[in-house]
Amino acid sequence: MSLTLSEKAKAVKPSSTLAITAKAKELKASGVDVVGFGAGEPDYNTPENINQAAIDAINEGFTKYTPASGTNELKEAVSAKFKRFNNLDYKPEQIVVSNGGKHSLKNIFDAIINPGDEVIIPAPFWLSYPEIVKLSGGVPVFIYTNRDCGYKITGDDIRKAVTDKTKAVVLNSPNNPTGMIYLREELEDIAAAVVESDIYCVADEMYEYLTYDGREHISIASLNNEIYKRTITCSGLSKSYAMTGWRIGYTGSSVEIAKLMGSIQSHATSNPNSIAQKAAVEALNGPQEAVMKMKAAFEKRRDAMYERMSKMKYVKTLKPEGAFYLFVDVKEVLDKEYKGEKIETTTRMAQILLEDYAVAVVPCVDFGYPDHIRLSYAISRAQIHKGLDRIEEFLNNI
Ligand code: GLU
Repeated sequence: MSLTLSEKAKAVKPSSTLAITAKAKELKASGVDVVGFGAGEPDYNTPENINQAAIDAINEGFTKYTPASGTNELKEAVSAKFKRFNNLDYKPEQIVVSNGGKHSLKNIFDAIINPGDEVIIPAPFWLSYPEIVKLSGGVPVFIYTNRDCGYKITGDDIRKAVTDKTKAVVLNSPNNPTGMIYLREELEDIAAAVVESDIYCVADEMYEYLTYDGREHISIASLNNEIYKRTITCSGLSKSYAMTGWRIGYTGSSVEIAKLMGSIQSHATSNPNSIAQKAAVEALNGPQEAVMKMKAAFEKRRDAMYERMSKMKYVKTLKPEGAFYLFVDVKEVLDKEYKGEKIETTTRMAQILLEDYAVAVVPCVDFGYPDHIRLSYAISRAQIHKGLDRIEEFLNNI
């Protein structure tokens, strides 16, 4: 036996959103005044009542193992939230609480994929979907979209992509990186194709609270019983409650799938952090004013971002309807020269922006769109304007 390594592991790319954020934070710590449009991470502190629940949990000795798939108290809270906010009936035994949304997705794909099964992923996509699918032994299959259709797929797109190996389709609304939201009739069209093809729908609803201009969030599983049976609904507390570091994600699914995910998790990680679970109960059951305040602030930031970015030369973007990202087409920028060098790639563009203008942006090559960048506006309006001034200066210098 030679000292070879796992081919599966070697095929996985490290997360560039996390790498860019780490780099920006490192530069900041070393004294550089970086504006971070990198990772989608709210700049707010976790609300006080949630922090207090965690402190109480520590003081009361709630620091031991809990059931592997989460405490009953938290599952009850998630179940009540699914009913209240998503119009979905998931009983506590249909819920699995994990170490963040990413972990929930890993559990889902581990539970449903057999080697070689295909998972349809609409592009652009959050960069971790294909990597997680591959790690679970699956094969990502992409459906490419464009700005004219709001980067959304239709039922017919799914029908065309389905083969006898298709196991699931991923649906992410509100969307990372485009900020687009699927309308009820679009979800109905997609649900019909999913049911007809008899595949699973992995509905990642991480940004469900962040919908703007009065738009409602609709969970695809709530449309009818046939799509409910085939959907695994996934969400988490990171974005809505400013709890990225606490790592709490959860799923609602059939009891059968929940049991599989619970078993997998019982060997992989045991329970999610007991203290974070207590904090999550308070987040879901406690007052929601802080969430509403953050959402209102994100909407104003969205307005500021779009207002300025849509007027800049060489770039094109759609007005985001939710989440906190602006997806920007920079094809024209890549044809230009900067200091005598053709810019060529968004990776190079992001490097120039970081090194010469102290602005962190995400090149979207890993999101399936090499000629786009993503800007997260989960930062203050003052920071947004400072960062956009710098991007404008860069565009004037090419
Ligand atoms: N999901 C966030 C993002 O897309 C956080 C970083 C990550 O997990 O990719 O920026």
